[in-house]
Amino acid sequence: MNAVVALDAVSKNYGPVAALESVSLDLVAGETVALAGHNGAGKTTLMKLALGLARPSSGTIRVFGQDPAGRHGARARRRVGFLPESAAFHGAMTGLELLAFYARLKRARVEPLEELLERVGLDHAANRRVGTYSKGMRQRLALAQALIGEPGLLLLDEPTSGLDPDSRMQVYDTIDRLRAEGSTILISTHALAEIESHADRVALLHRGKLLAAGELQALRRKAALPSRITLVVRPCHTE
Ligand code: ATP
Repeated sequence: MNAVVALDAVSKNYGPVAALESVSLDLVAGETVALAGHNGAGKTTLMKLALGLARPSSGTIRVFGQDPAGRHGARARRRVGFLPESAAFHGAMTGLELLAFYARLKRARVEPLEELLERVGLDHAANRRVGTYSKGMRQRLALAQALIGEPGLLLLDEPTSGLDPDSRMQVYDTIDRLRAEGSTILISTHALAEIESHADRVALLHRGKLLAAGELQALRRKAALPSRITLVVRPCHTE
């Protein structure tokens, strides 16, 4: 099967810091992979490489078969939707106005943006100023922004970070709907414990190294994980 994202022995150094060390990982169409690791594991770096915002120090990365930072990378980059770790929005604009603004920035067809808001459960707040949105609503707006232009690949950098349990569940519900529609998704997370039922596979990054990749149940049986990586599977409850 063709890989949507293919990393082959990718290393990325920032001066003396090895943010990624010889990471090889494929993401195939229609799967959701959780990129799990502690602070500084290299999750954002990997996403930046996939977005073409940085180049590997060695090794290769292909997104839709192209080097995303290369001369022919623009087409591949346009097919990627990105939710950054801390999205900030202009509070005086409505949800709908903001999406229209981003659609223009991306030169995407100004698709039925109301539908996009409906997909993330924000249709009721389409004409409300974003300044009145809760944190969870803003995060779902960020997800809607990432969905503009019907991207073939979604990169979600810690989409539930800083959210209360209810808001986290709402974000996961949206992710589950996207998965059911056959989207290809890479989600970075610290919260390995709550990701299990929302991803097909987990890739464990630790200090820039890919320790293991596979189904979480299988990884839990692996003995070779450092003790700092806790593979406790605990569903996220909301009451
Ligand atoms: P977090 O969960 O805290 O966001 P992360 O897993 O996303 O962490 P990265 O942000 O990819 O990790 O960082 C990996 C390592 O690379 C860290 O040691 C970080 O300090 C370093 N790093 C990342 N970007 C840069 C940069 N532009 N310049 C120097 N060092 C960097």
